[in-house]
Amino acid sequence: MSVELVNVTKVFTDHDNKDKEFTAVNNVNIKILDGEMVTFLGPSGCGKTTTLRIISGFENQTAGDVFIGGELVNDLPANKRDTSMVFQSYAIFPHLSVRQNIGFGLELKGMKKNVIKEETDKIMETMGLTTLGNRQPSQLSGGQQQRVALARAIVNKPKVLLFDEPLSNLDAKLREHMRTEIRRIQKQFGITSIYVTHDQSEAMTVSDRIMVMDKGVIQQIGTPFEIYSRPQNYFVADFIGRANFIEADVTEIGAESITVAVDGTDRNYPSWQKDLKKGDKAYIVIRPEGLKLSSDKTAHTFFSAAVSQAVYLGATMEYELSVEGRDKPVVAVSHNPIQEGFYKEGDRVSVSFDP
Ligand code: ADP
Ligand code: MG
Repeated sequence: MSVELVNVTKVFTDHDNKDKEFTAVNNVNIKILDGEMVTFLGPSGCGKTTTLRIISGFENQTAGDVFIGGELVNDLPANKRDTSMVFQSYAIFPHLSVRQNIGFGLELKGMKKNVIKEETDKIMETMGLTTLGNRQPSQLSGGQQQRVALARAIVNKPKVLLFDEPLSNLDAKLREHMRTEIRRIQKQFGITSIYVTHDQSEAMTVSDRIMVMDKGVIQQIGTPFEIYSRPQNYFVADFIGRANFIEADVTEIGAESITVAVDGTDRNYPSWQKDLKKGDKAYIVIRPEGLKLSSDKTAHTFFSAAVSQAVYLGATMEYELSVEGRDKPVVAVSHNPIQEGFYKEGDRVSVSFDP
């Protein structure tokens, strides 16, 4: 079922000071397609949870419309919206077994005992919980508890699944495992899902599309590829992954390329930015893995640099490079240090990249 937000704004008013207003969500527009998984991504306080709560009906928007399955739901209370929320604090009942927790919603609906058993059996198998049915929540690990919470949400067959930072309480390794698990289950059931996180790699893993927010305002909506490789502005480029920003002046705009002057030298690069004009200041954004290092000083270079830090991470080698005339170090990553060679702190390198 699709979910659509049209010009949705939320203004909170201070209880003690009625004149003090705070715009937590500012004119948000997005259409989430049937069966799609979209992530709201942004720093803490940017309005992700508030937007999610407006969709679920736990919060009322100040302005704008919410549609679920094409139906205007502004006046529909939360329990009539057919959405289901999965939280960071699992919200499973401590005094009920795993099986009872999962079947709870079905029992509320007054379903027959044998149907409840059938449905809970099915979902427990899908989620790898079959052998844990009689356990109490206190006898489960964090990952298992999260899986019970997810099973309990899915067994009710909601039209829309809402996740609010569901993995924040888990350790790093389990978090990585669970996010692929959540994605697998979501695809398998084809449930329209909205996932809130401040973790960009989590967003990249689970999403069909990502909506990046800052201070209540949408910065960009796109696939993980578009968000990482075609960031629309400085905020998105800086928030998603790591990036080197090279200041440049726009001197010429072509159909699919752009000429910019860097330190007085004209350079031509591909560009997808449609809103740049001659004379603008812009940034060339280069991801760390886009830089090639070489010890050959005659190699075609973007600049020459000194290695100020070299960190061996097993699969990759990460470098911080200091470049004369720049305050910020340049970051480079080699995914193939054995072939490309290891550089050590103090080495001089030529830096180039494929535009
Ligand atoms: P996020 O989930 O992205 O961390 P939230 O949506 O929870 O952000 O909050 C967005 C902003 O709105 C924050 O600055 C927060 O302090 C504020 N906010 C959230 N709920 C309320 C409320 N009930 N009253 C006043 N301000 C609120
Ligand atoms: Mg939040």
